[in-house]
This record gives sequence, structure tokens and C-alpha cells, in this order.
Amino acid sequence: MDCLFCKLVKGEIPATILYQDDDVIAFEDIMPQAPCHFLVIPKRHISTLNDLTDEDASLVGKLQITAAKVAKQKGISDEGYRVVMNCNEMGGQTVYHIHMHVLGGRNMTWPPG
Ligand code: 5GP
Ligand code: ZN
Repeated sequence: MDCLFCKLVKGEIPATILYQDDDVIAFEDIMPQAPCHFLVIPKRHISTLNDLTDEDASLVGKLQITAAKVAKQKGISDEGYRVVMNCNEMGGQTVYHIHMHVLGGRNMTWPPG
């Protein structure tokens, strides 16, 4: 399958990896939208949020817990950060392997654009 993030998981494209285990991997976003911007993804390919099933509940929980752990490691926990998952075209998704954006190091605006 020609998936960018599956290639990254396999080490076929370089990444600055912040954390990984058997299920998830966190790495720096290549085009950061904030002083701190990293992504957390499952190692298994899942195209969009719409493809999640009940069996993925613990995996999704692990994505969120990993986001919080890595945010702490990056020193942005106390000041605060934003977690975003984009779904399909109107949601702004461009890479079709689910990923959690974690953004910090600046004030976030609401509502998002
Ligand atoms: P989306 O728009 O799908 O929610 O987010 C995709 C994210 O992946 C973007 O923030 C983009 O900068 C990031 N990205 C795209 N290609 C690469 C890559 O090759 N390496 C890394 N580390 N991030 C990437
Ligand atoms: Zn993939």
C-alpha cells in the first residue's frame, strides 16, 4: 500500500521519532504549525476516523495517552496545547493514515480556521 505514514513506520522515510512502542509512534511534523507540533499515529494502517471500529477503542485511547505523555516530555503540558484529528477533505485531512496533531508553544485561537 502506498501510504506515507506506513512507510514512516517501516523506517522507509526519515522522521524525528519522539516515542514508539508496538502500537503507536509519535514524531515531529515536517511542516510545524506551532513551535511544538508533533503527530501520534497507530502503527497499523487506518485510513480515516470513519474506519475505526469498537475493537479500536483501546488503540485510540492509547493515541491520546501517548499525546499527553509526549506533550509532558516536550514541556508543554502545564502551559497547554491543542490536540486535533482531521477527517476527510472538509476536515482538512491530507494524509490518509489517521494521526493526532499535538500543537503547543503558542496561544491557540478558537474557533479554528
Ligand atoms: P493532515 O492535513 O492530514 O491532518 O495532516 C498531515 C500532516 O502530516 C501535516 O501536518 C504535514 O505537515 C505532515 N506530514 C506530511 N508529510 C510528512 C512527512 O513526510 N513527514 C512528517 N514528519 N510529517 C509529514
Ligand atoms: Zn498507512
